[in-house]
Amino acid sequence: MDWKKGITDLAIRNDPARIRLTVRGRVQGVGFRPAIYRLAREMELAGFVRNTRRGVVIELEGSIASIERFGENLATKLPPLARIDSVDAAELATSGTDGFTVESSEEPGHGEALYPVDTAVCADCLLELRDPDDKRYRYPFINCTNCGPRFTLIEGLPYDRPLTTMREFEMDPFCRAQYLDPADRRFHAEPISCPDCGPRLILLDARGEGIPGEPLSEARRMIEDGAIVAVKGLGGYHLACLATETEVVERLRRRKGRPAKPFAVMFRDLDAIERYCRVDESERRLLLSPESPIVLLRRAGRTGATEPRLPVAVAPRNAYIGVFLPYTPIHHMLMEGFEVLVMTSANFTDEPLISDETELTGILGRIADAALVHNRRISHKCDDSIYFVPAGEVVPIRRARGFVPEPVTLYRCGDAPLLALGGQEKGTFALGSEGKAFLSPHLGDLGDYRSQANYRRELDDFKRLLAIEPEVCINDLHPDYFTSRLAAELACPVTVAVQHHHAHAVSVMAEYGLDEPVIGVTFDGTGFGSDGRLWGGEILLARYADFRRLAHIKYLPLPGGEAAIREPWRMALMHLWNLHGDLLLDRCERAASMFEGLPAAEVLALAQRGINAPLTSSIGRLFDAVAFVLGCGHRVSYEAEAAVALEELAVRHGPTERCYVFGMEEGDVVVIEPAPVFEAILQDLGAGVSASEIASAFHNTVACLIVELAGKLARREACGEIVLSGGVFQNRFLLERLVGNARQEDCRWYQHRLMPPNDGGLSLGQVQIGAARIEKGLI
Ligand code: ZN
Ligand code: FE
Repeated sequence: MDWKKGITDLAIRNDPARIRLTVRGRVQGVGFRPAIYRLAREMELAGFVRNTRRGVVIELEGSIASIERFGENLATKLPPLARIDSVDAAELATSGTDGFTVESSEEPGHGEALYPVDTAVCADCLLELRDPDDKRYRYPFINCTNCGPRFTLIEGLPYDRPLTTMREFEMDPFCRAQYLDPADRRFHAEPISCPDCGPRLILLDARGEGIPGEPLSEARRMIEDGAIVAVKGLGGYHLACLATETEVVERLRRRKGRPAKPFAVMFRDLDAIERYCRVDESERRLLLSPESPIVLLRRAGRTGATEPRLPVAVAPRNAYIGVFLPYTPIHHMLMEGFEVLVMTSANFTDEPLISDETELTGILGRIADAALVHNRRISHKCDDSIYFVPAGEVVPIRRARGFVPEPVTLYRCGDAPLLALGGQEKGTFALGSEGKAFLSPHLGDLGDYRSQANYRRELDDFKRLLAIEPEVCINDLHPDYFTSRLAAELACPVTVAVQHHHAHAVSVMAEYGLDEPVIGVTFDGTGFGSDGRLWGGEILLARYADFRRLAHIKYLPLPGGEAAIREPWRMALMHLWNLHGDLLLDRCERAASMFEGLPAAEVLALAQRGINAPLTSSIGRLFDAVAFVLGCGHRVSYEAEAAVALEELAVRHGPTERCYVFGMEEGDVVVIEPAPVFEAILQDLGAGVSASEIASAFHNTVACLIVELAGKLARREACGEIVLSGGVFQNRFLLERLVGNARQEDCRWYQHRLMPPNDGGLSLGQVQIGAARIEKGLI
């Protein structure tokens, strides 16, 4: 944002003059007002700076030369977390006032101004934390206007201490003086506190009773001895334990009821990460960013036999490890004793994150041997965000801490307040108003009633905080999603159900504000189709308000419904049936041995008779089937486990020239026939090609399908833009193959950068579809 130009363009008439600047962006709760104050004083300008519901208002009075110098200098004086999206400037009559003041916030109310995100502890605070002469030496709750908790403390807007959970602590004179001093780094640092007036740490044992001694060093000692300790973070509890001991990690898996889903690990510093993982420049920047997300990194190269390795149990059959750095003072002090720890969300599988001491009783003694707790209340549960960086592009997998509740600007949106409820397995909602979408944090799998209760609570809270009462509610077409039932219950004046893959495609379109129409390649596990079948391998012609299906993977039965998602062998059976016909179990020797010990004949009979075998065009299920054929196992314990194992196989081999080719049934809607791919895979297996090379070749095959078919359809429909969405685009190996291939095409390719490609991104697409339909008079 060019400030200088904003002020020059104003063509100020008077000298001395008075101007008013209305600034929007991330300008509240980030030390913006003190920065303005200091600069205005330096330039000898009079006036004030004030937080309002519409952003920050600045009035400056003085000579034109001083005002211009203010404009020139501001860009370099902005606090690190501030971000300016727009500035409106106007000239006023001079008032002759003296001095410059920081005015307190307007009355609580609805905020167009962004509300602030949780931020990793800053370098200045870390220095003080380690300085024996500082009053906050080793104080676990040190923060300033540039860092610390925000969203997870907020109970109202605008962002001000009385509207946060820190209102429960009365500032002592020391903190109050800093809080009120515009020249201090802690001026209006709402969570400010010190050892004399702030929250306190306690270490609880398995029965919930206090353990004597210094809590942090006791916790470190217990972890060192192999214990699992719950640690209160910004948006909830983590479970911390030794990442380097297989026995400890496996114990955590047993207790948590989580046999295979990867655990995130926290490293002491970047150096430690680089000893275990490969890190490129954009990954390094992301790890060190104020948002401090979990980043999925490649394990260290195969050549490095001397490099230290984490036990397989941390992330079994996974080519990547989820890695992050300490982001609270407590983490920094905890990590003093360790190079790396497992730090996974404290919950039972599929239940929401634990954030409250009353919820702790459920895990203390059952999962955790002890808990490092404190009395600063968490107002919003908020998981760690997860990112990955395929081919240099930063893509979210989970959008939560550090990003929520910053809104996303919608492409076209009137004033009508909208609510989009998202999907099911990776719950998020979006509230749309005045051209912006406010996204909830990741709310987990909504199959569990505790997650549903948390979803409702968070939705009520967002509506209250933003003072948005939705008039239009948008939900997924799927009749059995929790969110679809909720839509009926909420009884908004208008409720609209939109198709799953349409919402996926529009989610990307909204992020970039693309002109319609685009080709939408939406590849995922499953989403409810307009024809009542389970879609998942779709190429669409997508507009904001509607879409047309251009191509899909051939329909095959999903024998046993949900059971076929948990048991990938069932889909492998369907693909072999598709290839060989009814007598496959008699005629195909390989099939007979492949399904040994599994009820293949019974499941085949179900499919043949069409009993509990809904038709699906899912490409996720094709990945499952190939994974099973290549020996990745017949059962999965978490979503996409088979595809993750297949990718790991492919990564182990690396890129290959080998590639298979899908069949095509041309027509108005192109049907993609997977039989030739299966035939070639079985042939290669028979010829002794390694499973890992076949896995690599299969990724090439899907990449070629996307590039060639989407490219062809783009030419046919005369549009040059292709968007990629759906959980399949979390497959980094596939994306890297795609980048190589896509360069040769004359289309522009877009993938997610603000929202996850998985169903966590649906709510943004839904809200944008709702806005477009209103604009077109369709609602
Ligand atoms: Zn700080
Ligand atoms: Fe999906």
